[in-house]
Amino acid sequence: MNLENRVALVTGAGRGIGKAIALELAECGADIVFTNRTPALAEATRAEVESKGRRCLSFQADVGDREQVERMVAEALEAFSKIDILVNNAAITRDTLLMRMKPEDWSEVMRVNVDGMFYTTRAVVKPMIKQRYGRVINIASVVGFTGNAGQVNYSTAKSAVQGFTKSIARELGSRNVTCNAVAPGFIETDMTRKLTEAQQQAIVDQIPLGRIGSAEEIAKVVRFLASDDAAYINGETLHVNGGMY
Ligand code: NAP
Repeated sequence: MNLENRVALVTGAGRGIGKAIALELAECGADIVFTNRTPALAEATRAEVESKGRRCLSFQADVGDREQVERMVAEALEAFSKIDILVNNAAITRDTLLMRMKPEDWSEVMRVNVDGMFYTTRAVVKPMIKQRYGRVINIASVVGFTGNAGQVNYSTAKSAVQGFTKSIARELGSRNVTCNAVAPGFIETDMTRKLTEAQQQAIVDQIPLGRIGSAEEIAKVVRFLASDDAAYINGETLHVNGGMY
């Protein structure tokens, strides 16, 4: 799964799954461009990518802000000439029950998780179409398929990833730009560390493998989809959840 001479843009790679993806792609030879919001975390990811001998550019860009995304993509293209792989990973949660959910809990999750995926993909596919090569990989979630009490906003946004992925696959397949998704189950990151011990145990009880997954286990699947071994996979979602769905 050689990714030498490839350039990958990973959104939300300051920590968690995005960071693991950036490091995994760099390990296989790709140069990395990534976004997050927190400068200190960006510095750590950048140092680790560069320690693998790869070039790395980081941007403090909010994926839900169209202008910031377009500026970032233009600067990345100027620096690295191309983007071959896009991983739409950045996302947030604003969990609460529907009856308590404020309109801003809903709209902020849609802005970052759905608008962000749209802005970033739209900016990146233009050069991909031109070069007749691209891999778009969207990070979905098991709750986009099962739903989850307390996550009406987040699970709706994650369901949207499916329609987006399948439509891009149909639209851009003829240009050798594929679009696939990876749907993690419950993975140990800051997102799930927010849950109480009892909530975490209730989740583990539903997982046939009997444990929460690691960010690296998601990153390896993204690396596969980014590689030439996955050249004929298009419009697909790979579920990585220990068998819970
Ligand atoms: P995380 O630990 O909360 O990390 C989220 C990352 O996204 C951080 O780097 C964060 O930047 C960045 N980010 C958040 N909002 C952003 C914005 N507006 N613009 C740019 N970057 C932004 O999350 P995670 O658990 O690694 O989740 C990564 C992906 O996997 C998400 O799409 C999530 O929905 C999905 N997922 C996770 C799980 C799970 O169990 N963890 C399960 C299913 C799906 P800062 O560090 O600067 O805040």
